Amino acid sequence: MGTRCPKCQYKINFAGGVPGQRSRQPTQGDLLICSGCYAVLTFAGQQLRAASLAEQAPHGDDLARAIKFAKQQKELEKGPSFQLGHADDGAAFIKCLRCGSVSYNKGDIRERFCGKCHGFHEAT
Ligand SMILES: [Zn+2]
Ligand SMILES: [Zn+2]
Repeated sequence: MGTRCPKCQYKINFAGGVPGQRSRQPTQGDLLICSGCYAVLTFAGQQLRAASLAEQAPHGDDLARAIKFAKQQKELEKGPSFQLGHADDGAAFIKCLRCGSVSYNKGDIRERFCGKCHGFHEAT
């Protein structure tokens, strides 16, 4: 059974469900995390749709954990998103492997920050 996320069209792998529900096929009323956009989805018949806030509310903590887990899994699959190095003149730099930009800013290096993506790299 293959189903796509209605938001980002990511093909949902049913292994990545809500903790405690992972061992079985999801059924009506189950919540799933999209590994593509981390939207909380639920079943409507055979189709997936975005879960309403009211549907998400009772599972708040589980969902937060599941989303964090999904993000960690994705980061691991991608490998590290940055590279540290030294230029020929000895200056340290951080290179973002997501957008390819290189920064010599000490703050960026210390914080593992990419000013172009405006994002922090996951600690590895
Ligand atoms: Zn999605
Ligand atoms: Zn970047």
